[in-house]
Amino acid sequence: MSHKAVEIRNLSPSTYVLRLERNDFPFQPGQCVNLGIKGSGVNREYSTYSGMDDPYLEFLIKEVKGGTVSPALRKVEPGEEVELHGPYGSFVIQPEKINTASFVFIGTGTGIAPFHSFVRSYPDLDYQIIVGIRDATEQHDHQNYDSSRLTRCVSREKGNGFHGRVTDYLKQTEIALDKIYYLCGNQGMIHDAYDILRNAGVSGDQIFTEAFF
Ligand SMILES: Cc1cc2nc3c(=O)[nH]c(=O)nc-3n(C[C@H](O)[C@H](O)[C@H](O)COP(=O)(O)OP(=O)(O)OC[C@H]3O[C@@H](n4cnc5c(N)ncnc54)[C@H](O)[C@@H]3O)c2cc1C
Repeated sequence: MSHKAVEIRNLSPSTYVLRLERNDFPFQPGQCVNLGIKGSGVNREYSTYSGMDDPYLEFLIKEVKGGTVSPALRKVEPGEEVELHGPYGSFVIQPEKINTASFVFIGTGTGIAPFHSFVRSYPDLDYQIIVGIRDATEQHDHQNYDSSRLTRCVSREKGNGFHGRVTDYLKQTEIALDKIYYLCGNQGMIHDAYDILRNAGVSGDQIFTEAFF
């Protein structure tokens, strides 16, 4: 299957949003798809960034230096076809929990993508986001979240949130045992954050994870 590119929105030297035509493509917020240059035969997974009712599909993508797919997708022109397969994955919110549970979303870098889709799709969601970034250039679309629900953990500069990694933040904060936790981003963070939550007493069935790399 292929979808026409609508635009590339550059957010920083390393990160961009790829918008594709929706073509009635169905997905649940939090699921991912495989994207690639048409005919290349090489695809990578990307989480949906747009909301389930948006008339387009968006993906928040970090251009990995020396990578195959992420730099190539940044160069697609409007109107060019992008190969898309899916949707895949179970990093979703169970329908019965959407308006009854309280959520903590913990992500690093573009790992905030599925949370953007959750927040856009479910306007009444009771959530907190704890996002790990290196510096202010990585505040991707932070204006799209309720600022009282967003905690930035900034590892490489001071004065723009909590100074340190998300795991440092978790270690010094009170962990609520009645919330549902979603962890997304690099494996190291997910592994460490999972241990912190479990050691604090959060049950394993209240923790969902999605590792990007
Ligand atoms: C379920 C799932 C969902 C994903 N969703 C997203 C998403 O929404 N946005 C997104 O940007 N990426 C996402 N990824 C990562 C994406 O699939 C690719 O791995 C990434 O774009 C690199 O592909 P590439 O072909 O450019 O680099 P490759 O040629 O495959 O390899 C480059 C190297 O970069 C490493 N790498 C991969 N991602 C990163 C990263 N973010 N930062 C630093 N190093 C990295 C890889 O481990 C590899 O060693 C997701 C991965 C999975 C498994």
